[in-house]
Amino acid sequence: MAHHRATRAEIDLTAFRHNLQNLRKYLDPQTRIMAVVKADAYGHGAIPCARIAVENGADYLGAGVIEEGIELRENGLNAPILILGSIFPDEAEDLVRHNLATILCTRPLAQALSKEAEKQDKTVSVHIKVDTGMNRLGISPENLPALLDQVRNLKNLKIEAVSTHFSSADDEDLSVTQAQLEEFQTALTILQKEGVHTPIVHCANTSALFKFPESHFNMVRPGLILYGVLPSPSLRPVIDQGENPFQPVMQWKSQIILVKPIAKGQPLSYSRSFTTQRDSLIATLPIGYADGLHRMLSNKMDVLIRGRRAPQVGNICMDMILIDVTDIPDVQAGDEVVIFGRQGDEMISVEELAVKGKTIPYEILCSVSKRVPRIYT
Ligand SMILES: *Cc1c(COP(=O)(O)O)cnc(C)c1O
Repeated sequence: MAHHRATRAEIDLTAFRHNLQNLRKYLDPQTRIMAVVKADAYGHGAIPCARIAVENGADYLGAGVIEEGIELRENGLNAPILILGSIFPDEAEDLVRHNLATILCTRPLAQALSKEAEKQDKTVSVHIKVDTGMNRLGISPENLPALLDQVRNLKNLKIEAVSTHFSSADDEDLSVTQAQLEEFQTALTILQKEGVHTPIVHCANTSALFKFPESHFNMVRPGLILYGVLPSPSLRPVIDQGENPFQPVMQWKSQIILVKPIAKGQPLSYSRSFTTQRDSLIATLPIGYADGLHRMLSNKMDVLIRGRRAPQVGNICMDMILIDVTDIPDVQAGDEVVIFGRQGDEMISVEELAVKGKTIPYEILCSVSKRVPRIYT
C-alpha cells in the first residue's frame, strides 16, 4: 500500500461531475460553459477536474495564468483554453505554440500576438475584456472603438469573444452588477456599430449565473459552484430547490497523533493564547498553517471527531494543532478528524470556516497547500 500522509484532501470527482451536470439545468441548452480550473482547480487538481469537465460538456477551460494553460495542454487537454489573467507580450510565443487564448485589452499585446502567430503560421484567439466597473483588467467602453481600429485588421489574430467581469455579484445588493451589465450592453452596442461580431460573449461567474440569467449571453464562466461551494450565503435561496443541488467536492481530513490529559489552568501552544478551564483531554493533529490552515482560525474553529464537534484550542502552529476532546468519549490516537467535510450526521462546511477565518470560501480552498496529498475517490 502506498503511504499517504494522515492529513489529506479527499476529492470526490463524482460530485464534481454531478455539479457540472446540475448546472446545466440553470442554463439554456445552447449556452456554453467555460469551466474555470485556475489555481489548480481551486485546489482540487486542475488535470482531473479539467478532464471531467471536458468529458461532461464543458466547451472551454479557464486558466488563471499561462503556466496553468500550458500544464493543461501538456497533460493532453485539447479543449479551448482562455488565460483569464492575460499575458505579458513576451509570453506570446508560448501562448501561440500551445494554442491558448488570452484576454486582450491593449494594442502592444495584440501586436505581439499577431506577429508571433504569423511567425508560427497560426491564428491566435483573443477575448476582448471590457472594464465595466471592476477597474482591474479591461478597456473602458469609450476606448473600445480606438482599440478595435488598432487590432481588428492585425494578421492571424481572431477576436473570438468579448467579455467583462463583475466586482460585486456575490453581494446581496444587486445594483452594482445591474449597472455593470448595462455598461457591458453599451460596449456590445459599440462593437456592433463597429461591425465586429464575435462568436462568443461571456461575463457570468458563479453568482451572476444564478442571480442574473440575462448575464449568460452564450457562455458562462462558473468556478466555485463546480466545487460544490457557495460564494456567499446570499446565494442559498437563489439556487435551493428544496435542497442544495450542489455537493462539496473536497473534504479535508487528518488524524489524531496523540491524546493526553492536561490539568486545569495549563496554557496551550505558542504564546499561551488558551488556558484549560478544567482538567482536559487534548488531542494533537499533524496539520498546521503550512498545510494551509490559517493561523487566523486559532481558537475559533471546530473539527469533527467520532461524529461530534470539538473545539480547536491554542495557537495553530506550522505543522500541528490542538483539539479539546474532553467531551468526546473513547477518543484515541489514530482517530479520523474532519477539518471540513462530513462525519456521521455532522458536517463542517468550507463556508463555515471562511466566516470564522474572516475570509471567503475561495481562499480557504486555494490555501490547502501542496504538502497535503489529494486523494481521488
Ligand atoms: C475566477 C473567475 C471566474 C470564476 O468565478 P467563480 O466566482 O469562482 O465562479 C470567472 N471569471 C473570471 C474572470 C475569473 O477570474
